[in-house]
Amino acid sequence: MKTGPCRTRVVGCWTAWLLLLAMSGCRLFKHAPVLPEQHRLVHRSLVIHSDFPIGANHPMLEELIAERNALSERLRISVPAEPIPVYLFERADTYHAFIGHRFPEFPRRRAFFVETDGRPAIYAYFGRRVAEDLRHEVAHAYLHAAVPNIPLWLDEGLAEYFEVPAGRHGFHALHVSRLATLLDMAVWRPELRRLEAIASVDHMTQDDYAEAWAWVHFLLETSAVRRSRLRDYVHDLQAGGSVAPLSDRLGESRNASEDQLITHIRQLAVLHDRTAAK
Ligand SMILES: [Zn+2]
Repeated sequence: MKTGPCRTRVVGCWTAWLLLLAMSGCRLFKHAPVLPEQHRLVHRSLVIHSDFPIGANHPMLEELIAERNALSERLRISVPAEPIPVYLFERADTYHAFIGHRFPEFPRRRAFFVETDGRPAIYAYFGRRVAEDLRHEVAHAYLHAAVPNIPLWLDEGLAEYFEVPAGRHGFHALHVSRLATLLDMAVWRPELRRLEAIASVDHMTQDDYAEAWAWVHFLLETSAVRRSRLRDYVHDLQAGGSVAPLSDRLGESRNASEDQLITHIRQLAVLHDRTAAK
């Protein structure tokens, strides 16, 4: 299971149910956990609500803003500068208490991106990995603003790519190690169609997140032709209408692409081992 951040869409009757719960909350819960709203900081498109003061010059804020340009440049898409509410708790226990109360169906995770009737919101706590968590969730917010119909695997793959600090070209050491191990054990091989068929984040394993990241890294970082292929796909998604899955576009080269992705992962693993040994 993914123990880190993840996106979750809240739509339709879910929203009505949550509204009902919110309205009746004061009667159902004596001390219902509340949103962290003692402090409010607006930094360009980010609207940070928190239960502790955050300096307007905190480097994390500028990094999250810069991520929008990085994503726009990497995918060659325009990303609307829509306000993104971020609810940041100082402590993990108050965060988990709030999430457990407000979103009882959600698994226990460090951060969430929630889209309610097209309105985004991010929930997280200020833990050791908060910068990584927010880079991941903010990537979802930017992607959903630009490409509302983005497929799940690509949404998560790009969020994993952009959760890595800027300047590393999306190199995710944890995913490289994991996938290289699975290949060595001969218990896994990439299969884009299988990944595309996963309909819900609830059904995505940690290895699925790693594979989604690997496809994105392979397409964006290995050749101009592959990068264009992904950009064209994202442009078509952004244009709307019926868009065939990327695996269909790969056609007969799909098997070859999966073999090339294996080679790419093995090369990254060697690079990672060499870097770690220095
Ligand atoms: Zn996610």
